[in-house]
Amino acid sequence: MKNLRVAVVGSGPSGAYCAQLLTEESQSPMDVDVFERLPAPFGLVRYGVAPDHPRIKSISQSFTTVFDEASNIRFLGNVEVGRDLSLDELREHYDAVIFASGAPMDRVLGVTGEDAAGVHAVRQFVSWYQGHPDSDPADFVLKGDRAVIVGLGNVALDAARMLMRTNEALRQTDIPEHIVEAFAASTFKEVVVVGRRGPAFAKFTNKEFLELLDLEQTDIVIDPADLELDSIQAEFAEKNGSARRLLASFAKAAERGVAGHEKSIRFVFDRTPLTVLDDGDGNVSAIELSKTSDPNDIQTLETQLVLRSVGYYGRALQGMPFDEQKGTIPHEDSRVSGMDGVYVAGWLKRGPNGVVGTNRGCALEAVMAVLADLQSPGYNARTSDRTEIDQLLASRDVFVVDWAAWKAIDEAELAAGMKIGRERVKLHSRDEMLRVAGAV
Ligand code: NAP
Repeated sequence: MKNLRVAVVGSGPSGAYCAQLLTEESQSPMDVDVFERLPAPFGLVRYGVAPDHPRIKSISQSFTTVFDEASNIRFLGNVEVGRDLSLDELREHYDAVIFASGAPMDRVLGVTGEDAAGVHAVRQFVSWYQGHPDSDPADFVLKGDRAVIVGLGNVALDAARMLMRTNEALRQTDIPEHIVEAFAASTFKEVVVVGRRGPAFAKFTNKEFLELLDLEQTDIVIDPADLELDSIQAEFAEKNGSARRLLASFAKAAERGVAGHEKSIRFVFDRTPLTVLDDGDGNVSAIELSKTSDPNDIQTLETQLVLRSVGYYGRALQGMPFDEQKGTIPHEDSRVSGMDGVYVAGWLKRGPNGVVGTNRGCALEAVMAVLADLQSPGYNARTSDRTEIDQLLASRDVFVVDWAAWKAIDEAELAAGMKIGRERVKLHSRDEMLRVAGAV
């Protein structure tokens, strides 16, 4: 009997859960190939989850165990589907293909001046400080007094916190040493977090907000007047326990007041970005905000760095259906609409929401759909075996970072950390990662 063969595109939490669940749940022998465009696995666990949240990041240890122990799961890193292999080739060589490639694009504000230097998608900033191989150490020079972050989600808080962290705290993380140094050289004293709606509608979690109150040497500034709710917010808060808890924490912060620290994070609510102003040389110098509830009330905030943290957005391969508005792939119970044998899981399926663990249930739904289809009576497994896809990649001179090669990168990072008294220091450059992985 031939083994079933499933390709999973993306090795982030969603792809890793898919690989694990496919092999755990399948009644028939199954081989799973996990394709990853980066030389390192685990997607947002490695490059998204905040470096100062080691507990959440530690989920990568259980994913590692899955790849270490399951001989029928392969990791094929440094392989980009859509560039090195086409969707048609995957469909030809595998019984099923699950897309779990996340939401790698950003939403924009759509305001005049947004293309000024110094205005970035928060994803770029996060990629930079996480040492993502697509970013460059020189992407950010943290010179200025005030940074503005637009959006009231957890990613906005991650970025605000990282901008205010002390060197000592940053050295407890795995970020590259040159990034620690760039933060050490930062001159930013204030971060202003801007929400277009009132505080009751903040999307970040209470736990993440409370973490700010424990930040070393940083005041958290909230205007008590902003906590006087209008009827829409009051009604929402009455029905929503998370909003009530968050409002109670805002009140606690407002009551605590400021201690006069050199650094601060200030929250501004009910303000919609209107225009980004530049200094005449194309660099951001200020952002104009209008009061959402009273558009004639306009405020100008001088700033040298604007991060828009207004949500991520998915991307589909050419030929796949795509919902432009949601940034997701249309599907029925994870089956991609109109494409037999193609499935979707994670942020590409349900949009950029939820925590890491949310992806397990989402992956299980996709896996059950795959198994129901492949284990239905009369289904015949494909004839192609693993060597054919390997040969195809070799014929295109693709250097595949397999699991052993990733382990070499992993060990190099641990060794680099040990040398300077840190647990791990990530390799930033793709070339360096590939060199350590054995590419010539
Ligand atoms: P998010 O939670 O959806 O927040 C996006 C924010 O952007 C919202 O405040 C939204 O306001 C605002 N926004 C959208 N369009 C805007 C516009 N045109 N102008 C001004 N503001 C705009 O997204 P996220 O922060 O990127 O997080 C993505 C997911 O990852 C979330 O589920 C999050 O919880 C999760 N995450 C979790 C953690 C953690 O657990 N520690 C850390 C990071 C991320 P409106 O509400 O008004 O639309």
